[in-house]
Amino acid sequence: MQYISTRGGTLGQFSDVLLEGLAPNGGLAVPEHLPRLGADDLERLRVLTYPQLATEIIGLFATDIPRQDLARLTDAAYGDGKFAAEEVVPLTAIDDLTLVGLSEGPTLAFKDMAMQFLGQALEYVLENRDGVLNVVGATSGDTGSAAEHALRGLDRVSVFMLSPQGRMSAFQRAQMYSLQDENVHNIVVEGVFDDCQNLVKRLNTDLDFKRAHSIGAVNSINFGRISAQIVYYVWAWLRATDAIAEADRSSHHVSFAVPSGNFGNILSGHYARTMGVPIRRLVLATNENNVLDEFFRTGQYRPRTSADTLATSSPSMDVSRASNLERFVFDLLGRDPERTAAAWHELEERDEIDLSAELGRFEAEFGIVSGTSTHDDRLATIRDVHERTGVTIDPHTADGVKIAREQLEDGIPMLVLETAKPAKFADLIQEALGESPELDADTRALLDAPQRVVEMPDDEQQLRAYISERALHA
Ligand SMILES: *Cc1c(COP(=O)(O)O)cnc(C)c1O
Repeated sequence: MQYISTRGGTLGQFSDVLLEGLAPNGGLAVPEHLPRLGADDLERLRVLTYPQLATEIIGLFATDIPRQDLARLTDAAYGDGKFAAEEVVPLTAIDDLTLVGLSEGPTLAFKDMAMQFLGQALEYVLENRDGVLNVVGATSGDTGSAAEHALRGLDRVSVFMLSPQGRMSAFQRAQMYSLQDENVHNIVVEGVFDDCQNLVKRLNTDLDFKRAHSIGAVNSINFGRISAQIVYYVWAWLRATDAIAEADRSSHHVSFAVPSGNFGNILSGHYARTMGVPIRRLVLATNENNVLDEFFRTGQYRPRTSADTLATSSPSMDVSRASNLERFVFDLLGRDPERTAAAWHELEERDEIDLSAELGRFEAEFGIVSGTSTHDDRLATIRDVHERTGVTIDPHTADGVKIAREQLEDGIPMLVLETAKPAKFADLIQEALGESPELDADTRALLDAPQRVVEMPDDEQQLRAYISERALHA
């Protein structure tokens, strides 16, 4: 399978785009064509465990990795003990909806689903190429901890993660700072998240420094992550149809509701649907930062600046520039790289893209509908689900449930992706229910564990020196 840029040109195979997500022309890596899954293929996949299914699905994209090797990688990512639930991704019925549990991993949020695989795959590719990778990133919480838990203990990858002093919750601090692995470097910057991100950006514009120290990223545009996320859409459809008579299964459509920020999770759903998984609708839920809801309602894409991005109570969705949207627009524009490049040129010139001429196709052709959920909606939804079913959901999942209920259709099961565990957001749960979520023994131990960080002023020279000294070299 060859990969191409959404703005034109070829980029190599899966292993190549794993290390370099962004094409030199600014476009994103996408497969030259999407593989198809027919009804027979889906039935064949029904008997597999989650790691086995991951091997089959990711294997359609990673044709340059031998199957036995891929099976080892998916087993290391999703095998025994890595995820709290034995089935890795459990389905739980709540009333009129079904939750798809994507937060059973080590950091209790859905980013583990993709990141655990990506860590294993990176180590494998670097081993074959005798290379190393020093991941430098900035985090305000979830992404950083998922990356660190996926990369910890690897031999050929190290991670330098910048986080803002005093801005992270006790739980987030514990998840990151308690890691004692030698290849994990937590750098606490005297500043806010934007300061951390600016430091990373400045390092990344210095190509000599980047090359000399093999610096890279594992951000949400990485196609390895997108491919690993397709797996659970297939898994959820299979589990939702296990009880249905075999002859009727292939015509049994389900809808998915997806709490969204960078458009990574729902993009994987779009790919699963295009590949042939019987998905009726993809219901996109945003919080008050509703740039994507606006796009799917009007066809106008108007990203906002970080100054205009609100800090909400579903913080992992506080995104106003959806980095994966370009991949969807590429498909929308008939996979035409020239039209896609022109659209992003328009974005640079005018800070917006007008695709209102295509508006009628969003739902009719791609099944995408959307909605916005607010702080009050989150509180009411968490309370309502708790009262009716006894299940406590986290604020991001609550955004999904709120919009899912607006889009219910007779006879079509609605599956809501649960993107985090409530224990991560104790303050909001307290506000909604008047009681904090119960912490299990592991979580309590985590909060008490010793922490290891280095503190640093907002100073590029100090950061460079620190990384130069500790980066891995081939
Ligand atoms: C990252 C994240 C999201 C948003 O996912 P995207 O792929 O960025 O759209 C939603 N919920 C949680 C808990 C997350 O960590």
